[in-house]
Amino acid sequence: MAGARGRASLGRCWLGGKGGGWAGGSPACGIISSLCFMPAGLKRWLSSAAPAPRVCVVGSGPAGFYTAQHILKHHGGAQVDIYEKLPVPFGLVRFGVAPDHPEVKNVTNSFTQTARSERCAYYGNVTVGRDVTVPELQQAYHAVVLSYGAEDNRVLGIPGENLPGVLSARAFVGWYNGLPENRHLKPDLSCETALILGHGNVALDIARILLAPLPLLRKTDITAGSLAALACSKVKRVWLVGRRGPLQVAFTIKELREMINLPGTRPVLSPADFTGLENAIKDAPRPRKRLTELMIKTALEKPVEKPVEVQAAAAREWGLKFQRSPQEVLPSADGTRVRAVRMALTRLEGSGDSAKAIPTGDVEDLECGLVLSSIGYRSLPLDPAVPFDAQRGVIPNTSGRVEGVPGLYCSGWVKRGPTGVIITTMNDSFDTAQSVLEDLQVGTLDVSSSREGFGAVESILRSRGVRPVSFSDWEKIDAAEVARGRAAGKPREKIVDPQEMLQLVGH
Ligand code: FAD
Ligand code: NAP
Repeated sequence: MAGARGRASLGRCWLGGKGGGWAGGSPACGIISSLCFMPAGLKRWLSSAAPAPRVCVVGSGPAGFYTAQHILKHHGGAQVDIYEKLPVPFGLVRFGVAPDHPEVKNVTNSFTQTARSERCAYYGNVTVGRDVTVPELQQAYHAVVLSYGAEDNRVLGIPGENLPGVLSARAFVGWYNGLPENRHLKPDLSCETALILGHGNVALDIARILLAPLPLLRKTDITAGSLAALACSKVKRVWLVGRRGPLQVAFTIKELREMINLPGTRPVLSPADFTGLENAIKDAPRPRKRLTELMIKTALEKPVEKPVEVQAAAAREWGLKFQRSPQEVLPSADGTRVRAVRMALTRLEGSGDSAKAIPTGDVEDLECGLVLSSIGYRSLPLDPAVPFDAQRGVIPNTSGRVEGVPGLYCSGWVKRGPTGVIITTMNDSFDTAQSVLEDLQVGTLDVSSSREGFGAVESILRSRGVRPVSFSDWEKIDAAEVARGRAAGKPREKIVDPQEMLQLVGH
């Protein structure tokens, strides 16, 4: 099966021919030697007549694509194959980023350019660790980069956590963003008060989706099913609860401002939580200072943008609660679902980012009908052949080189843990790609014998009944989604059933 390949650019020069034709043979030195602006590593590789380095990337989120992009840009002979478990690419850009933040998703344009490169191929619908093992990939490629993100979430580990009405933010986000595994979630939105545990940007995303006016959501790529459920939602109050104080919140100012300005809602911040904080932030780093000032302004001052009467008339409200650590989820009288969360009140030991929340011994019950636990994502081990630090939830590595396994690399959330925005992920993926390039240059990565790449993997997959989806297949799914969305006045209507995706591409 051929992946979608286009022409690859190298600085101001174009390299013709399919990279696959070079593998195992001498590259077209006649044409290439006359090319200018050639990176030193490429020149060395060309003159060595070594086989084309074949690199495999596992995962097609930002980490996978940025790693591939950097390798392809800085090594004109390398070929990169990207394997993705889902039929569709882009990881959390498609399944995490909020539907009302379409501008963030523009990164997929550059990922698409990468995937269309002649020296890059995309193989969706292949779960590494199940359909093909990491040792099998290592046999087929000179280097394997693991960029498979964080597919699970942290758990609270408290009684009642599994009661109906308690959901992970990860599942809720997956539901409104069309992640196949969450398409049947059916969150019960018949209560008036929802509690979100955690003070990160994911917590703000889900608060906004719960409270946003429907006309605003209708214009986004939120799934039809979740839009219909939100249209019937009775939720009109959302509390975001953190175990530490206002100086330790993990969300950022742009996202907080968006929440404060959300039409039809009013923020409810207790002035007592913010008194005296102005002094405490005098020497704080600028982003923390500005963020805290915005909270103080919202809590203490009369709002400028929204007159008091407008605020009072707002049908929906949200607020931040601090220094409350979840201790137990309490059931309704009949025991069938959540009624409240018992919070341990905390005091802070230490200051700044490293302050610790210590229970005071007092508790408070916060009544609610829906609990969304937004305390972070978590990576999982992939394959017994890959070391995994279960405590930190990462693959142990140095600059992306997996410890103790030459030729194996990692990038993105599975490399450094489940925090950081797309730009952070881009930088750490470039760092990993740089390690691969350096190892190619100094010979730590042995490319003296050619590797078959997808040719070898294809026969393994066929023997196991797995049919990969190419990038041009994805483009068919993409076109179908955009067409369905257009009919509904949306940028796209995501297909949420993988079987339907596969049927669309003739599988
Ligand atoms: P992912 O994006 O998760 O990609 C991993 C990929 O690997 C996925 O496609 C997955 O399907 C695939 N995979 C998993 N297991 C396998 C396997 N066994 N075999 C093959 N493939 C596999 N950042 C911003 O800058 N702006 C935002 O607005 C923003 N919003 C966010 C909203 C949410 C809810 C979340 C959770 C994060 C958000 N981020 C945002 C952060 C950003 O999404 C991450 O920094 C980035 O996606 C991490 O990239 P990654 O490639 O490591 O992981
Ligand atoms: P996060 O930023 O790490 O926030 C996690 C929150 O959960 C923190 O408030 C943390 O509190 C709390 N928490 C952790 N364990 C807890 C426990 N046992 N009990 C109570 N509270 C607990 O994670 P996230 O919100 O999942 O976001 C992940 C990354 O994606 C972040 O880097 C985020 O910025 C990014 N993202 C960005 C955007 C955007 O740019 N718009 C949107 C979404 C996500 P402590 O600080 O006390 O540990």
